[in-house]
Amino acid sequence: MSELTIRTRGRIGHITLTRPKALNALSYDMCMAVERAMDAWRDDASVALIVIDAEGEKAFCAGGDIAEMYATGTAGNLDYGRKFWRDEYRMNAKLAEYPKPIVSLMQGFTMGGGVGLGGHVSHRVVCDSSQISMPECGIGFVPDVGGSYILARAPGRLGEYLGLTAARMGPGDAIHAGFADHYIPQDKWPALIDQLAASGDVAAVALAAQPAPDSPMAAQQPEIDALFGGEGLQDLLNALHTDGGEFAAKALKTLMRNAPLSMAVTLEMIHRLRGPSLTIRKALEMEYRVSHRIMEHGDFLEGIRAAIIDKDRNPKWKHAHDSVPATAVSQMLMPLGADKLSFEEDTTMQIAFIGLGNMGAPMAANLAKAGHSVIGFDTAGTTAEGVTNAATAPEAVAGADVVITMLPNGAILRAVAEQVIPAMKPGAVLVDCSTVDVDSARAVAEQAQAAGLKAVDAPVSGGTGGAINGTLTFMAGGTTEAFQIAKPLFDIMGQKAVHCGDSGAGQAAKICNNMILGVTMIATCEAFALADKLGLDRQKMFDVVSTSSGYSWTMNAYCPAPGVGPTSPADNGYKPGFAAELMLKDLRLSQQAAESADADTPMGQLAAALYTQFVETEDGKGMDFSAMLPRFEKRGRG
Ligand code: NAD
Repeated sequence: MSELTIRTRGRIGHITLTRPKALNALSYDMCMAVERAMDAWRDDASVALIVIDAEGEKAFCAGGDIAEMYATGTAGNLDYGRKFWRDEYRMNAKLAEYPKPIVSLMQGFTMGGGVGLGGHVSHRVVCDSSQISMPECGIGFVPDVGGSYILARAPGRLGEYLGLTAARMGPGDAIHAGFADHYIPQDKWPALIDQLAASGDVAAVALAAQPAPDSPMAAQQPEIDALFGGEGLQDLLNALHTDGGEFAAKALKTLMRNAPLSMAVTLEMIHRLRGPSLTIRKALEMEYRVSHRIMEHGDFLEGIRAAIIDKDRNPKWKHAHDSVPATAVSQMLMPLGADKLSFEEDTTMQIAFIGLGNMGAPMAANLAKAGHSVIGFDTAGTTAEGVTNAATAPEAVAGADVVITMLPNGAILRAVAEQVIPAMKPGAVLVDCSTVDVDSARAVAEQAQAAGLKAVDAPVSGGTGGAINGTLTFMAGGTTEAFQIAKPLFDIMGQKAVHCGDSGAGQAAKICNNMILGVTMIATCEAFALADKLGLDRQKMFDVVSTSSGYSWTMNAYCPAPGVGPTSPADNGYKPGFAAELMLKDLRLSQQAAESADADTPMGQLAAALYTQFVETEDGKGMDFSAMLPRFEKRGRG
């Protein structure tokens, strides 16, 4: 991603924000990428600690990327912003609670979202250029991303002062107020990072630290405490008016510009949070009560309009400074009930499912049943329970996190891939569950990767019964990262997923498995036909073989004899199930692969020949592949 780089270097996991032209403003994708990196490094023994830094002189991170929030919010879509905040706050908590040390190096502006990223970690470093602040009240919002946690713990009434005036803290102030831990001149940072990468010992940070510069705010603390100690906004405004001094006049001027409701809510939040039971989660949870409501009931959209969109700096706030109703404040902070911020990850994915046939439809339905949002497409117009159909394949895949294909063959897969790959969002995963030739699987994976996507070939075994019951086995090929993203979906649609190797490895496993399946089905059917002719009762035959050395999946789980063993297509007039022509397809794929790999597969070859005959010149087409049994019944040896 061009917005940040994530890599390991020696013993460190290193995250660098790389959008200095945008003052490294934090986008939603950046938040998610940081969270994924933390998740990946948590149990990685080679990573001893994480370093978070940023390119450019001007800013570590000047805030959250709010343009999209404004665009969606003004269009009446409140969900985008709410999800952004929920997911960002979860990341903020994760940074604060991470079991390994995290070092943040905060030069220049560190504001809002930047404080959420760098201000909660175990080792927070500032330098001479550092300017830290929580400016949210200026845009009709409140200090969030866990900022209220630091403000509520700041000495005296400094939290109220910083939260309401957005005063900028230099390095001394930041350390005094609890926004940073160490002062290290910026020219020493590269060597420090080298040292951390080489040793993995975070003690190097404290050793590199120098005495913090003076804190002007510490010197002003008595004045701040006196002026910002009141109960409500009106008390503070009165105190600042009455004082009349230079410091009070400057603070008053700022307060008169900021959103009255935001400031009143901020004060109330800090007062409620302050105390021994305060945790970052408690602060984030309270902040989210406000975030959830702020677009609808607060001044947030108007604040952004005036500051960033129209830049007229003339916001029309909802309330006058001297008349913010107490009810408006308490309504903002009321518990949210079911909408309460949860620190559990929202694992719901947007899934596109292309090919809703015998297998695809129940697989897609199971994903929808598990709570995922599934959009389907099939040229035959078929649909599945809980799945919304799109008019075209590109329409179905737009915006999807994962695109699953379940198609008849490699040629169709290649054609569908041509259509959908350009329409998929960057970073999305293409998971092909069809059974296709290894070459097509690899070609599609390469095409997807070249387009900035991830790809997994994940053919299945288990038939339509497995698809309906969610008990399929997935054999997957692709990168570990792509497999990990798809794994939770495999766990819903199946009972087992094996990562077999790189692209194509899943298909290789599948055709080897199905070659065994074809061969054993033929062996099982011919054994039943022989048993018939020997006068052996089919049930007895089943009872013996299913518990003896001749047992197999085709005997025990998919018995080709009607009325014997568990219910199978044989009990339904041999309606597929797994159609004989699909078995033939897989056997042909196996022989094609055996040919190109120069593997000797006489039984596979014979099975392919028998199914060819069955499908092409006998009555096998449209029948289940276990209908080999009636075929053998009718025949003699000659
Ligand atoms: P199916 O024929 O029932 O389903 C395939 C679906 O793909 C059809 O609904 C068809 O309309 C649709 N389709 C075709 N071209 C399309 C396109 N261009 N765009 C969108 N949709 C398109 O087949 P199935 O039994 O569901 O099998 C699907 C795949 O799963 C095959 O590759 C098969 O080998 C494999 N498979 C099947 C079974 C089984 O028991 N049926 C078991 C394991 C693997």
